[in-house]
Amino acid sequence: MSWPSPFICLFFLIQLALPSAGDAPAASESEYGALADKITRQGLTESYAYNVLGRLTRLGPRLTGSPGAAAAVELMRQEMTDLGLENVQLEPTVVGRWVRGEVEEARLISSTIGTIPLSICALGGSIATPEGGVRAQILEVKSFQELRAAGDKARGKIVFFNRPMDPTRSNTFQAYGEAVEQRTRGAIEAARAGGIAALVRSLSLGETDFPHTGLMQYIPGVERLPSAAISTLGANLLSDSLQGDPGLVVYIKTSCANLPSVTSYNVVGELRGAAIPDEIVLLGAHLDSWDLGVGAHDDGAGCAQVIEALRLLKLAGLRPKRTVRSILFMDEEFGGTGGRDYARSERRKRERHLAALESDRGGFLPIGLGVGGGESVLRKITAWQPFLLPLGISWIKPGGGGVDIGPLAESGTVLLGIVPDSQRYFDAHHCSQDVLSAIHPRELELGAIAMAVLAFLLAEEGL
Ligand SMILES: [Zn+2]
Repeated sequence: MSWPSPFICLFFLIQLALPSAGDAPAASESEYGALADKITRQGLTESYAYNVLGRLTRLGPRLTGSPGAAAAVELMRQEMTDLGLENVQLEPTVVGRWVRGEVEEARLISSTIGTIPLSICALGGSIATPEGGVRAQILEVKSFQELRAAGDKARGKIVFFNRPMDPTRSNTFQAYGEAVEQRTRGAIEAARAGGIAALVRSLSLGETDFPHTGLMQYIPGVERLPSAAISTLGANLLSDSLQGDPGLVVYIKTSCANLPSVTSYNVVGELRGAAIPDEIVLLGAHLDSWDLGVGAHDDGAGCAQVIEALRLLKLAGLRPKRTVRSILFMDEEFGGTGGRDYARSERRKRERHLAALESDRGGFLPIGLGVGGGESVLRKITAWQPFLLPLGISWIKPGGGGVDIGPLAESGTVLLGIVPDSQRYFDAHHCSQDVLSAIHPRELELGAIAMAVLAFLLAEEGL
C-alpha cells in the first residue's frame, strides 16, 4: 500500500508546529495514525506473538546445533509459510555444537560449617572437569586486576570471580556489560594465574539459587580450564563462608563437551516491496537459545515479534514500497555465525538493506527506540514518535544495533533497536527461569506492534 506524499508533508508540518512530542496529535489525525491504531487493535485482540511463542517454547530448549534448534527451524519455517509470507527460505550456516552432559554438581566442604551443596552450571563452550571432578581451595577476586595482583595465590586453586552486577545502574544491560568479562574471559585469566578451574558469579541482579549460563571463551596458547557459573545466593554463601574458613575447599564436577560443527539455518520470510523490492527493511531476532530454560525472553520473544510484525502488516492489507523481511538468526549465543553469514551471503549482493531492527532484549514493555545512522536519520524517525508513543515508546535517541544485525553496518545499513524495560530481564536471562510464564502477552505484543509500525514507516518513507 502506498500513501500520497502531500499528506506526509502535511503531517510533518503538523509535527514542526508542535511544542514537543508529548503534545503530538491524536493518532487518528493522520492516515499513518489510523493505520497504527488498526494494527494495534488487531495485535492486542489476537495476541498472536504470545501464541506462536507458546508453540516455539513447547519444543524445549534451542541450543545452537541441537535437535531442539533444528525442530525450531522447521516450526518457524512452517509458521511463516502458513501465514502466507513470501520467499520463505532457510539460509544455511555452519554452527558449533556443545552439550551440557548429565552431571553438574558442586559442594562447599568446610571444617567449620560442614558440607553444603552449591548450585552451579557449566558455562557454554567449557570443557568438562576430569572424571573425578576438581577439588581445591578457593581464591575469591572481584576483578582481573585483583587476580593479577594476587601473584602466586591462585596456583592450584579454583578462581572464584565474584563481582556482582552494579545495582546502581538503572539500565541493567549496562550493569551486565560491565560484569560479563568474568564469564567470557574468566577461564583464560584463571589459567594465566595458575588456577585449575573458574567459578563465576551468575550475571543477575536477583538473589536466587538459579545459576545462569552463557558463552565463555578460550584462546590459543592458554590452558583450557573447566568453567562454571554459581547462583548468586551460592556465591554469597561461598564468599561469606570464606571469611570464617579461608581454607575451605570446593568440589566441582561437570560433564559437558564440544562436538563437531553442524549445519543449521537462518529462517527468512518477507512481504515483498511494491516499488523497490530490492531495498530491504529487516526485522531480526535469534532462534537459538540457552539450554537451561526454553529461551522465552532470549530470544523466543524477539522471534515471535518479528513474525507477528509481518503478519500484522499483511492482515492490514499493506504492501509498502520496500520489502519488509523477517529473519530468525541461528547461533547468536554461541558465536554469531548466522548474523555474519547472512550479511556475507551472495544473495545480499543483489539487495540493499536500508535499515535493520533487532529484538533481543526480552519481551517486556517497549519504552524507547535507539536509532543509528546519524543526525538526519534521528530527526526523521523522531517525527514518527506520535505513532509509537501509544505503544509505550517515550524516547528516541542515538543507539540501536545488535549482535546479529551488526555485520550489516559495514554496508551502510542503519541499525535500530526497540528498547524494552530492562528491570526483570536478568532474572530470566540464560537460566531455568526463561520460560513462557515469564512473558506477559500484552507487553510482548506491544513490542511486535511497534516493530510493525516502524517497519512500515521505514519501508514506505525510506530514510
Ligand atoms: Zn539473546
